[in-house]
Amino acid sequence: MPVNGWDAETAVIGLGAWGSAALWQLARRGADVIGVDRFAPGHAWGASHGGSRMFRITCLEHPDLVPLARRSAQLWRALEHDSGEELFVRSGGLLIGPPDGPITGGTLRAAEAHGIEVEILSADELGERYPLHAAVPRGHIGVREPGAGIVRPEASVRAAVALARSAGARVLTGSRVTDLVAVPGGVEVVTATGTLRVRRAIVTVGAWLSTLLPRLPLETVRMPICWFRPATGTGGDGGDDSAGSRDSAGGKDFGLDRFPVFMREAGGGQVLWGNGRENGHDVKLGLEYGGGGFRPMDPEDTDRSVGAEDWTELARLLAVCVPGLDPVPARVAVGLFSRTPDGQFVIGSPDGDPRLIVAGGCNAHGGKHALGIGEALADLATGGETRMPLDFAHADRFPA
Ligand SMILES: Cc1cc2nc3c(=O)[nH]c(=O)nc-3n(C[C@H](O)[C@H](O)[C@H](O)COP(=O)(O)OP(=O)(O)OC[C@H]3O[C@@H](n4cnc5c(N)ncnc54)[C@H](O)[C@@H]3O)c2cc1C
Repeated sequence: MPVNGWDAETAVIGLGAWGSAALWQLARRGADVIGVDRFAPGHAWGASHGGSRMFRITCLEHPDLVPLARRSAQLWRALEHDSGEELFVRSGGLLIGPPDGPITGGTLRAAEAHGIEVEILSADELGERYPLHAAVPRGHIGVREPGAGIVRPEASVRAAVALARSAGARVLTGSRVTDLVAVPGGVEVVTATGTLRVRRAIVTVGAWLSTLLPRLPLETVRMPICWFRPATGTGGDGGDDSAGSRDSAGGKDFGLDRFPVFMREAGGGQVLWGNGRENGHDVKLGLEYGGGGFRPMDPEDTDRSVGAEDWTELARLLAVCVPGLDPVPARVAVGLFSRTPDGQFVIGSPDGDPRLIVAGGCNAHGGKHALGIGEALADLATGGETRMPLDFAHADRFPA
C-alpha cells in the first residue's frame, strides 16, 4: 500500500547472495523494504548456486576485505541461529602452492597482517594429512586456515529471504526490472508488470548489472562448475553420494573432512579449486585462468549448455593433481558473475546519488562476503554510511 505516494522506503533489486542479505538486514531493523527478483530465491541462473562457496578470512584480493569476511562469519552464525539451518560448514581450508606464489604467498601475507590463525604444512606433511593432495610437488606448501570452510549459497539465500519476509519485507519474484528512473526524492523501479516508486533502490543484480546499469565498466563472465566421482576401485563406485563415505578397497575418501575446500596453484598460472563430497553433492572442482575457465557472455542469453571444452583441461589436470577421480564429470553447471577491470567489487552510490546504491562486480570471490556486504548496504540505505572500509570498492573510481 503506497504511503505518501511511495511504495516502500527501499527496494532491493536482485535477491542472490548479496541482495538477499541486504533484504534480511533491512527487514530485521524494521525498515520498510521490498525485494524484487526475476527468478525464485535459490535459483541456478546467476552466481549463487552450486551447493558451496569457499569461505576464508585470509583474503588475498584486497586487505580491506578481511574485516568484511570476519563480519560475514559472525553474521552467518546469526543466520544459522535464526533459521535453524547449517549454512556454514567450518571444515578448515587449504591454500596450496609455492611459498612465494600468489595464492600461498598472498595468504601468508594476509594472515600475518591481520593476525589470522594459519598452519603451514610442507608438501610431505600435506600429503600425510591430506593424502588426496599427495601429488603436490616438493617445495610447495599447504597453508591450512582452520577458520575457513564452505558456505551453502542456495540455502543461505532462501533462509535470508524467508527471515526477511517474516520480519515484514515484501518480496516480488518473477519480476524483471527493466529500468530505473530517478525522480525527485526517489526512484521508479520499472518492471514488466508495473512500476514501484521507492525512496531508494539497492541494485544487486550480479551478472545482469552490465545490462541494467551499462555505464559501469562491468563484464559478464561464464564459469563452469564440475562435479566428479571417484574412479571405480579408488574411492567408491560413484553411486554413493553420502558425504564422508569411504571405499574399503582403495581407502580414498573424498568427503569434506579429508578433502576440505582448497585452492591450489597448478603451474602455468592455473588455479584448481574445489571441495570434497558434501551434503549430497559429489566432489566439486573448477579451474581458473586456464582452458575451460572464464568466457564473456550476454547475461540475457538463456543458453547454459555445457560441452567438453568446459572440463577437458580440468580433467587433464586432475589426472596429475588429484588422481583417483573419474576424469569425466558426473555433472557440469554454469555460473555467471560480473567482473571489473581492477578485480575489485563495486559498492556504493554512483555520482554520490543516495537514491541508487549499487553492489556488484563480485569477480567470483564475493560469496564469502555476502552477509557483510548485505549489512553494509543496509547501513548505507538507512544512515548513508558503513563502518566497513569500502573505499577501495567505490562506484566512481573508474575513469568516465
Ligand atoms: C562458479 C562460481 C564460483 C564461485 N566461487 C566462489 C567461492 O568459492 N568463494 C566466494 O567467496 N565466491 C565465489 N563466487 C562468487 C559468489 O558466488 C558471488 O559473489 C555471490 O554468489 C554473489 O552473487 P550476487 O548476489 O552478486 O549475484 P546473483 O546470485 O547472480 O544474484 C543476482 C540476482 O539478481 C537477479 N536479477 C538479475 N537481473 C534482474 C532484473 N533485471 N530484475 C530483477 N532481478 C534481477 C537474479 O535473478 C539474481 O537472483 C563464485 C561465483 C561463481 C559463478
